[in-house]
Amino acid sequence: MFNLILFGPPGSGKGTQSEKLISKYGLKHLSTGDLLRSEIAGQTPLGLEARNFMDKGQLVPDEVVIGMISSALDANPEAAGFLFDGFPRTEAQAEALDKLLKLKKTGIHLMLALDVSEEELVSRLLNRGKTSGRSDDNNETVIRARIAEYHKKTSAVADYYKKFDKVKQVKGEGSIDEIFAALCKEVDRKSGK
Ligand code: ADP
Repeated sequence: MFNLILFGPPGSGKGTQSEKLISKYGLKHLSTGDLLRSEIAGQTPLGLEARNFMDKGQLVPDEVVIGMISSALDANPEAAGFLFDGFPRTEAQAEALDKLLKLKKTGIHLMLALDVSEEELVSRLLNRGKTSGRSDDNNETVIRARIAEYHKKTSAVADYYKKFDKVKQVKGEGSIDEIFAALCKEVDRKSGK
């Protein structure tokens, strides 16, 4: 099994690069943002609860996203590996993920962290908001709140994996293909290809 975390602030390109990585390496994509948006679309109780946080640019409570990831892992027993996108976003989530993977006799092999400047992030997100239909992307106050949450709670998750020497920083500015090539280089190096 090969389990990868694609890490970075909102707007750093995780969704775009995830699609390319899962198809090249045959991984199962687990995006908590996508899972939450599908709960919202289905108007489930979980979705209704999550929406209150997401609309304000705040993180959804840990127990909600951890429960969702736990079910997704159980639902994919045949996966060759997972690509976690937008998760873990807090240290508590990182610890919970380690425990869940340990129960399955596996763990995280690599965290790829995308580096993008803050002004570039805001401009990308505002641009995406024009077409994505995502209400959290067309309001600059909500975008700034998401970036603030990232600095306050999420950036520390990289330090957690650095302790285990699992983090590689990759420049997240440039063309999609250039960034993808840089990410693949790290995956290949780590997986011994
Ligand atoms: P982005 O990376 O562009 O902010 P996502 O689609 O990953 O977009 O997430 C959208 C929103 O969903 C976040 O702002 C947050 O409210 C919620 N969310 C997603 N993943 C998590 C998580 N692991 N923990 C808590 N909240 C989350």
